[in-house]
Amino acid sequence: MTDIIDGNAVAEDVRAGLTDAIDALDEAGVTPGLATVLMSEDPASQTYVSMKQRDCEEVGIDAFDYELDPDAPAEELYELIDDLNEDDSVHGVLVQMPLPDHVDEREVLRRIDPAKDVDGFHPENVGRLVAGNPRFKPCTPHGVQKLLDATEVDTEGKDVVVVGRSNIVGKPMANLLIQKAEGGNATVTVCHSRTDDVAAKTKQADVVIAACGVPELVTGEMLSEGVVVVDVGINRVDADNEKGYELVGDVEYDSAEEKASAITPVPGGVGPMTRAMLLWNTVKSAGDAADVDVNLP
Ligand code: NAD
Repeated sequence: MTDIIDGNAVAEDVRAGLTDAIDALDEAGVTPGLATVLMSEDPASQTYVSMKQRDCEEVGIDAFDYELDPDAPAEELYELIDDLNEDDSVHGVLVQMPLPDHVDEREVLRRIDPAKDVDGFHPENVGRLVAGNPRFKPCTPHGVQKLLDATEVDTEGKDVVVVGRSNIVGKPMANLLIQKAEGGNATVTVCHSRTDDVAAKTKQADVVIAACGVPELVTGEMLSEGVVVVDVGINRVDADNEKGYELVGDVEYDSAEEKASAITPVPGGVGPMTRAMLLWNTVKSAGDAADVDVNLP
């Protein structure tokens, strides 16, 4: 029997655990606050931002909503970030990517106060993660770690293959898994678009984490019996239904499920965890700023 890992249920547990931390902050007179900045008319980005705001409101985090015209000068965004860095009611600053071409994404990441960088993409926070002393773990890999833990998958000594090397998923995922820490201690192989034979690597793996943005790239044939499969991918593919599309992961679910001892579905696997870990990071940031021990779940 394959264990279907329920990301919605684990995310709900994380959110429930955060309520205690938010209550502890409340007693200290602190309400965690997340500022989201949208500089795009892309419907997907707009949806992501509104979901993040709704998630905040549901758990008692103040959501501050900023929207900039995509044609506004980059300086306007930089100045807004500077203001949010100074604002004591804001504990997390999240600038929704992608940004318009005239905005320097790296400057944006550098500009956010590292203590409010709840995405974990500021170079200082990336460095801390690599050095084994993370301040904020990036939300998606952190969510995957929580999912594995909730499924009682012990990564210590295991062969884990991460398919994808992006700065937001693949690289931080690999870094978390090699840490000498709980949820780490794995032997990690990172595959990417120039890897000669991805299947040769995934076949050796105890755990495969697919984050390549290629619909259904990882098939059952590429896996060994009993493997744990985590599918980070979210891809829209054309479908003969009302919407005209459906969401599929980076794993071919049906064939992979036949081999796997445990597998995440898409949707309902990693996605809800990414959202929950953003709340987690915001509450952590508020606790750090107020020097309150928030006992995070
Ligand atoms: P990306 O496009 O930035 O990176 C994809 C990576 O996959 C690259 O490093 C590339 O080298 C590698 N890759 C591409 N083709 C490959 C191939 N044929 N074989 C091996 N490796 C290959 O993507 P990303 O931002 O890391 O996102 C990856 C996927 O995860 C996407 O489907 C994205 O939508 C999804 N995603 C989901 C969540 C979530 O919350 N569930 C969060 C972030 C991203």
